[in-house]
Amino acid sequence: MFLLDYIVNLSIFSLLVSTPLVIRSFINLKPIKQMRLWGGLYAGIVSSVLVGLSFNEQGYAYDIRYAILILVFSYLGPGAGFIAGSFALVSRLMASENWLPAIVGWIIIMIVFTAIHKNSPHVKPVRKMAIFYVAYLVIYVMTVPIIFNVFRDDLIFHLQYLVFVTFGVLIGSLQIESYERLLRIIAEKKKMEKTLEESESKYRLIAENTSDLIAVLDQDRTLSYFSPSHELVLGYKGPDLETMEIGEIVYPEDVDMFLANLKKIFEDNEAISMEFRLKHQEGHWIEFESRCMPVMGESQEVEHIVMISRDISERKKAEEFLLQSEKLSIVGELAAGVAHEIRNPLTTIKGFVQLYKSENSQIEYSDLLLDELERIENITSEMLSLGKPQAIQMNRADLREIVENTVELLSPQANMNAIQFSMAFEAANFFITCEKNQIKQVFLNIFKNAMEAMRDGGVIQIDLRHGAEGECVVSVQDQGCGIPEELLPRLGEPFYTLKEKGTGLGLMICHKIIKQHNGRISYQSKVNEGTRIEIVLPLAS
Ligand code: ADP
Ligand code: MG
Repeated sequence: MFLLDYIVNLSIFSLLVSTPLVIRSFINLKPIKQMRLWGGLYAGIVSSVLVGLSFNEQGYAYDIRYAILILVFSYLGPGAGFIAGSFALVSRLMASENWLPAIVGWIIIMIVFTAIHKNSPHVKPVRKMAIFYVAYLVIYVMTVPIIFNVFRDDLIFHLQYLVFVTFGVLIGSLQIESYERLLRIIAEKKKMEKTLEESESKYRLIAENTSDLIAVLDQDRTLSYFSPSHELVLGYKGPDLETMEIGEIVYPEDVDMFLANLKKIFEDNEAISMEFRLKHQEGHWIEFESRCMPVMGESQEVEHIVMISRDISERKKAEEFLLQSEKLSIVGELAAGVAHEIRNPLTTIKGFVQLYKSENSQIEYSDLLLDELERIENITSEMLSLGKPQAIQMNRADLREIVENTVELLSPQANMNAIQFSMAFEAANFFITCEKNQIKQVFLNIFKNAMEAMRDGGVIQIDLRHGAEGECVVSVQDQGCGIPEELLPRLGEPFYTLKEKGTGLGLMICHKIIKQHNGRISYQSKVNEGTRIEIVLPLAS
């Protein structure tokens, strides 16, 4: 019978200990507010229940309320311990006689446990529990058989009781500890998952927000990953890219080199850089520079290639432009040299023609000769002044004169292409504050563009007039091919050109210079009718 009581008590005890733990694991493991208070109350109720289930042994109750107290003191501290202990004591007093040893024992236990708790602030609950348990044993032996002389010689009575409590403590602590361990494992796993997720999202952030193309190629030459920048740079939709063959997207002349390099990386396991062209969805080709890195798999073989590619078309254009401008500057230098050389004999010829004219006034054509000579002189001095590098100096200058000089410089070329310049000036002078050579360059670019747009000749009409208060307006109307309206906003963009040998820098430079002079530039155009460019500049005060 005895054993049965034991088993019933311990089973119910273990059930009541595990119930809150299991419930707790369902409610998301959030910390409970006033955990100690609730824990203490619950433990109190449990101990009352267990006291109710206690069995009498020769007038003394066998119950495991002290096992509960040991657990509560260890895991929840003296506050909760006191609440649970009060429940236990009251129910014990109601359940059985022999109040004195019960009350004295209770008081001593409360005092000793609280003292132990205060003196071991950083000890782990399991260790604390061992200390409480030993203290309990000592207190029990000191009080029950020795002080109160309860069955002093009945060793079996005490042994049975203490084994009973020991089992309670063991079962309870095992349950709580394994639950805590489980919690710790879950928390660690969650933390690991979070770190993993964080580092993954960091890499994802880099891969998905770069304008470089990041791709992973597998051994069968298919893409197993490509960054979203592919869609942006190449224009294809993701699913299309997945199914595309290398031959469809890589420039035909680059395919062999591309495949050979991939093969080399897979075989030799070394990183390679290469340049190739890829087809944009709209059909044009974009130049890329790519760094390809081999990635080893577990089998010590290259399993993937990570390719990081960058659009280098702008760089290529800049390199080409550099070459071109190098060439231009040499040509400019040569032209200035030639102009210089021509000017000296020209002065001599002009002097002699003037001499002849004064001596023989009947010589025909001498005026015509002098006019033409003057034109040559003007053109050569213009070439000289443009060729010479000069420090930027803002000076007062006549815009009309600048326009006329520039037209003069271009008129030989215009004549050859059956183009005429027609000029109209609203006033004799338009004084502005400017760097003369820069403004000249603006008109040079604009007139040249107009001439280049007029393949079949025609008239370029230049008007110079007053605009709004303190401003003057130069308008240049050509009869050229015109510019489609949707392309107008692109004028002035660096490298924007539709000409085979164009640089796409002329208008960009114009914009820059006009802005420096606090002016504005605007375009109106009709395809196949012509373009009108208006430049507004502030007049000098
Ligand atoms: P480039 O002359 O080297 O092409 P620009 O910056 O001078 O570079 O001009 C850019 C582009 O603007 C030209 O390629 C041309 O297509 C267009 N453009 C500029 N001016 C005119 C014009 N007067 N008529 C038609 N198109 C023009
Ligand atoms: Mg141009």
